[in-house]
Amino acid sequence: MTALPPDDFATVLQRCGIDLPALSGTDIAVRSPIDGTGLARLAARPAAGMPAVIGRAAEAFESWRLTPAPVRGELVRLWGEELRRAKADIGHVVSREVGKIVQEGLGEVQEAVDICEFALGLSRQLHGKTIVSERPGHRIMEQYHPLGPVAIITAFNFPSAVFAWNAALALVCGNPVIFKPSEKAPLSGLATFKALERAIAQFTAQFGERAPAGLAQIALGGSDVAEALVDSPQIALVSATGSSRMGRTVGPRVAARFGKRILELGGNNAMVVTPAADLDLAVRAIVFSAVGTAGQRCTTLRRLIVHRDIKQALLDKLLKAYASLRIGDPLQPGTLVGPLIDQAAFHAMQDSLAQAKQQGGTVLTGGQRVLEERFPQGFYVAPAIVDMPGQTTIVRHETFAPLLYVLAYEDLAQAIALNNDVPQGLSSCIFSNDLREVETFLSAAGSDCGMANVNIGPSGAEIGGAFGGEKETGGDRESGSDAWKQYMRRTTNTINYSRELPLAQGIHFG
Ligand code: NAD
Repeated sequence: MTALPPDDFATVLQRCGIDLPALSGTDIAVRSPIDGTGLARLAARPAAGMPAVIGRAAEAFESWRLTPAPVRGELVRLWGEELRRAKADIGHVVSREVGKIVQEGLGEVQEAVDICEFALGLSRQLHGKTIVSERPGHRIMEQYHPLGPVAIITAFNFPSAVFAWNAALALVCGNPVIFKPSEKAPLSGLATFKALERAIAQFTAQFGERAPAGLAQIALGGSDVAEALVDSPQIALVSATGSSRMGRTVGPRVAARFGKRILELGGNNAMVVTPAADLDLAVRAIVFSAVGTAGQRCTTLRRLIVHRDIKQALLDKLLKAYASLRIGDPLQPGTLVGPLIDQAAFHAMQDSLAQAKQQGGTVLTGGQRVLEERFPQGFYVAPAIVDMPGQTTIVRHETFAPLLYVLAYEDLAQAIALNNDVPQGLSSCIFSNDLREVETFLSAAGSDCGMANVNIGPSGAEIGGAFGGEKETGGDRESGSDAWKQYMRRTTNTINYSRELPLAQGIHFG
């Protein structure tokens, strides 16, 4: 039994503004990973209808790009307010649909609120530089202009926040958005999108015609719908979050038409624990980042690289902590580990465990299915820790489950080499109170990841920093810092206010 009976869930969806009968169809079967209950059957948008959707966005761009950025900021402010109001409901939809514990479902919506506030501030700061000219009576400046329609393709595991990260920035930067949520989590995406629609309605009431039809659209469906966005020359930027497999297809297709892209792909994140670490702090961080969201975060801790002298002491503490993990219904207070998204994820984890054993690994704890009697259609696992003799093939692969490999190292250079010697480059961290070790890990000779943390795990980033990673993670950034620049086009303007026409580099012509 879950905390809420299904009819109450229907009420939650209604409060989120989701009209299930109007969306019903046979294309997308949404089920809760908690117990396998069917939550909805939805109609997908036919891929053949996508040119019309894209056309509406292109039309909306014509006027939205001319709306002053601080006025555009008002829209995301209103969106943030709507999300705040609906936080408990959207958080519940996220928990129900992807199996996150209540705290994480709420945290995801809070991230969406946070990025709206960040984008509101940005709406008055989209400025370029003024640059000195080598020529008398000249000035050079940069401007950032809106880019065009932005397609947002999201993964199942952050079905609300990743849409908001992208849409809040895109809208403030003057771009319409088309959202293609994961087919595994369309309800969370819809709930977040509905809050944006309510904000648009309020904005229109306040400003009249300034929020054009086609400013924000949602297209439910699978990869065919996504591909229509990927291939359209009218889509100025494709922001795609998901597996490296997906990125390997999307990246070259967008490049083939010289489009812009933001790829946020798989991670294989490590923590280095040195003899100078606070082990108790490290254990707390390992538990949150390795088992939180049932190991289904792109930033989940997957590799623990620990100095051989402290390995056993750390493992003793860690195994004790793992023994007390509360696995179960994510809607129940006190649960720390919910289910995997589906049976395929369970099989992928079992397959990786089998390969790890073949490659010399020893399972120290976990890995087995649990709660099968209570939830025959829910795939709950005991988080696994596997001691590995080295960084074998399976360790270099992202398995989207709570599966933590342990590797021993002898000196810091070796630990950093292990951290970097994987195809992915998203997040990393070091636990150490030794300044030399810490600064080396953060230096040019240190971690090669997009994110490198100190005395904090690799997951759970704040929106203020730029988020993303190198290598097979995609190489792009979104969310905070200056990631907004990817949603705009930069123009460099040279202005001559003299009566002469001197050429640069001292060239005399004629
Ligand atoms: P997925 O790749 O199966 O699907 C992600 C999205 O891509 C879905 O909307 C899907 O419909 C779409 N898609 C699939 N094939 C496509 C194609 N050929 N063309 C266009 N679109 C296509 O990923 P998932 O299982 O939903 O999510 C888990 C993966 O996402 C993990 O690898 C995880 O690390 C990654 N992820 C990365 C980040 C990040 O910011 N780096 C964040 C969340 C998840």
